[in-house]
Amino acid sequence: MADSLLITGASQLLTLRGRGPRRGDSLSNLGLVNDGALLVRGDLIAAVGTRAEVERLPEARGAEKLDLGGRVALPGFVDSHTHLVHAASRAEEYELKIAGATYEEIARKGGGILNSVKKLRAATSEALKKRALAALKLFAAYGTTTVEAKSGYGLDVASELKILQLHKELAAEQPLDIVSTFLGAHVVPAEYRGKSGGAERYIKLIEEKLLPHVGEGRLAEFCDVFCDRRAFTVEQSKRVLQAGRQWGLAPRMHAEQLSRTGAARLAILMRAASCDHLEQVNQSDIQALGKSETVATLLPGCDFHLGLKHYAPARSLIEAGAIVALATDYNPGTSPTLSMPMILSLACAQLRMTPAEAIAAATINAAYALRREKSIGSLEVGKQADIAVFEVADYREIPYYFGVNHCWMTLKRGRVIHATEQAPI
Ligand SMILES: [Zn+2]
Repeated sequence: MADSLLITGASQLLTLRGRGPRRGDSLSNLGLVNDGALLVRGDLIAAVGTRAEVERLPEARGAEKLDLGGRVALPGFVDSHTHLVHAASRAEEYELKIAGATYEEIARKGGGILNSVKKLRAATSEALKKRALAALKLFAAYGTTTVEAKSGYGLDVASELKILQLHKELAAEQPLDIVSTFLGAHVVPAEYRGKSGGAERYIKLIEEKLLPHVGEGRLAEFCDVFCDRRAFTVEQSKRVLQAGRQWGLAPRMHAEQLSRTGAARLAILMRAASCDHLEQVNQSDIQALGKSETVATLLPGCDFHLGLKHYAPARSLIEAGAIVALATDYNPGTSPTLSMPMILSLACAQLRMTPAEAIAAATINAAYALRREKSIGSLEVGKQADIAVFEVADYREIPYYFGVNHCWMTLKRGRVIHATEQAPI
């Protein structure tokens, strides 16, 4: 059959197969097959197993062949938290941070998120799209095949819609899946600050002007809120998420990053798909997340870039049974990386996760965080053939070689979207 592809030669094939999200000990279960093979039909996986098992299928004989040459193959990474569309880097703030200015001090001087808002409002759609397309190529080059993307640097009707419209165009014009999230409640925009009831008036704008456009135009699947000091309170966040839900947007949250506010509790209460950051969670939050279906998404790139020492308590969350996921938080202010392998390295060194736990958190659990677990996140029959191949002999070498990209090939829906001629070291 012309549209079948037989992939062999995976010294280690990490299938991540199994039922339900990975919690506790099961986070280490990679479903590893030695000398693994896959049969792909069209976009989807038709068979998975050892080379002997897959090669003996009648369909395998007539299929196109791809030999991975003894490399390691795993599901393409699912990056469940990014701020993909932005106008420019904030390298000018980087030296201030190194000199000791806190994230909030920089924000008070007109830097931070509002700096990105100013740049985005001034940027054309064409320029924003060019930058995002270049970033998406790099995501693929690091083994990522699905990217969640948030608005939130527009903060007015025209600019937020400009970002969300771009998510739609980007999804249609390049191979990676883009999962669109509306983050109108990122911070209160400058024009509403310092006025009495400014935040309330901005929330009204979200409820009455922004969300109707987003909902009617089907421009996002999720509604996110940055619930933290200097952003939105728990009460305000609840209002925004409830309003989003009325337009069919499922809630997710930025929670407990700079201060403990009770945001994680709200996320659980609202059955949010995910609550992200969690550096400041307390013991009872950890226990509550352990019993909940809300994914605990950790973003160690953020703490690394800001030079912070207080990482999220990954080990306690895993022990409590929380569904732990990892993401880049790709954004120009606090985590300018699109490398999921680098995030795995940070998860191992700083969050004390094992390489196996980190890989499961960046694939199948991240798919749960995006409610895409039925189609991506593992290599199983009927799922999309989204595959990352690494030029390593053992999967543990993916995080071990920090800051070095050993991604050799990336396939999206069975098609090669990135390949290198890289030789093994
Ligand atoms: Zn974020």
